[in-house]
Amino acid sequence: MTQEELFKKLVAHCKEYGFIFPSSEIYDGLGAVYDYGQNGVELKNNIKRYWWDSMVKLHDNIVGIDAAIFMHPRTWEASGHVGAFNDPLIDNKDSKKRYRADVLIEEWLAKQDEKIGKEVEKARKRFGEAFDEEQYRATSPRVKEIAERRDEIHSRFADALNNNDLAELRQIILDCEIVCPISGTRNWTDVRQFNLMFSTQMGSTAEGANTIYLRPETAQGIFVNFLNVQKTGRMKIPFGIAQIGKAFRNEIVARQFIFRMREFEQMEMQFFVRPGTEMEWWNKWKNTRMAWHRALGFGDDNYRFHDHEKLAHYANAAADIEFNFPFGFKEVEGIHSRTDFDLGNHEKFSGRKLRYFDPETGESYVPYVVETSIGVDRMVLQVLSAAYCEEKLEGGEERTVLRIPAALAPVKAAAMPLVKKDGLPEVAQKIVDSLKYDFNSYDEKDSIGKRYRRQDAVGTPLCITVDHTTLEDGTVTVRHRDTMAQQRVRIEELHALVDGEVSLRKLFSKIDL
Ligand code: ATP
Repeated sequence: MTQEELFKKLVAHCKEYGFIFPSSEIYDGLGAVYDYGQNGVELKNNIKRYWWDSMVKLHDNIVGIDAAIFMHPRTWEASGHVGAFNDPLIDNKDSKKRYRADVLIEEWLAKQDEKIGKEVEKARKRFGEAFDEEQYRATSPRVKEIAERRDEIHSRFADALNNNDLAELRQIILDCEIVCPISGTRNWTDVRQFNLMFSTQMGSTAEGANTIYLRPETAQGIFVNFLNVQKTGRMKIPFGIAQIGKAFRNEIVARQFIFRMREFEQMEMQFFVRPGTEMEWWNKWKNTRMAWHRALGFGDDNYRFHDHEKLAHYANAAADIEFNFPFGFKEVEGIHSRTDFDLGNHEKFSGRKLRYFDPETGESYVPYVVETSIGVDRMVLQVLSAAYCEEKLEGGEERTVLRIPAALAPVKAAAMPLVKKDGLPEVAQKIVDSLKYDFNSYDEKDSIGKRYRRQDAVGTPLCITVDHTTLEDGTVTVRHRDTMAQQRVRIEELHALVDGEVSLRKLFSKIDL
């Protein structure tokens, strides 16, 4: 199965099993907007809990807030979003399709790396055991030619981005002979800047109305509350403020399901530090956040850091954590050193002092900020694409199983009576009643053959079967999703067993804070 087929299957699976639906589907949907179904919302809530607890519960110097989506319009002037939150767009005149110019070029660059990779693999086959990859890369004329061209374009691209040189971006697209995937032509318009913020009106009449924006990031809600929290919480630097909430961007969208949405959710933490210590903290948070991802057990090789070509207007260092999605390595999280840009500008625009008096140095200063910013929806996609698995079983049967880490699984345990009579359903119900205050558990009513399959397909880690022996000796069969191993346990032991399997503690123990 190709990665593309896998991705299509995953999208269909998400719909069939109540994870993710297109928004307002009965009206044919709305571009890049999605709804979470009964299982999707549980998975999403568990991801949020994993993040929130790892920040707020496990760090005594990080607290949370929940700021409003609407903010005073000056916020977005101070933050630079009104002036600079733009994407460079280009249209193909034949297909009338619009693209991000930077993305077209990045894809071209990635293709050159793929070409080099293919040459290397061909040579490896040709030379067999004696193959020296490093030497081959350094000497093969073909590889050198591709690499030199890639490096040249790469450096022109980085300069064009840094200088906001839109004509040069267009020229690179022409020079690389990039064609529109729909029309196949190179009939491109100029590159234009396009602001990504959605705006709306506040006030009862259009004339008296104030234009306000739907926030494009949650971070500004934290910055404007910096002093409120610092003072009321008696926080001492270094300290952090965490927040989970919706953000909105009018993205030009390539079809990537919930990877790029117009309405999405972010989990952001702003960590306030003494100026001059920000690089140390940036490195520390890069490592802590990588460990948080890797604790999920999807394979360390499926993650990598990517340093930014172009730093955002507020940053002096920035790295992404990328995950190996079915469509390649892509960003799931950014770790940015935002300097004193935001607080400094809010001071200027609001006229209020946003300073911290440091009792250790006796100085008053605008703190520097290291931010960790992750998309909840991209995390959902990471978990689902890593978890989705089609397996052939002994005896020729097949199953589709979501190997979601147990702590994140929508349903933790499903209790199933072997037959729907003889008092077995009542025992199954009692088991669910004894678990439901602590774990999302479920009384499975499907016919016997289907129920393991159904639970596998939504990723339920434990299935508990009640049979006639249960009535005699009070034991049940517990079946584990991944190994399909079964064990017989006493009903009284179930609570501890489920807790041991599904607790977030298991994940937290792998993160060195
Ligand atoms: P990209 O380069 O993919 O547009 P970005 O660098 O603009 O992302 P940030 O502004 O750093 O993203 O946002 C932080 C995180 O928010 C991203 O790592 C991503 O997980 C998430 N995110 C950003 N834009 C979207 C979106 N349109 N849909 C879903 N998640 C998003």
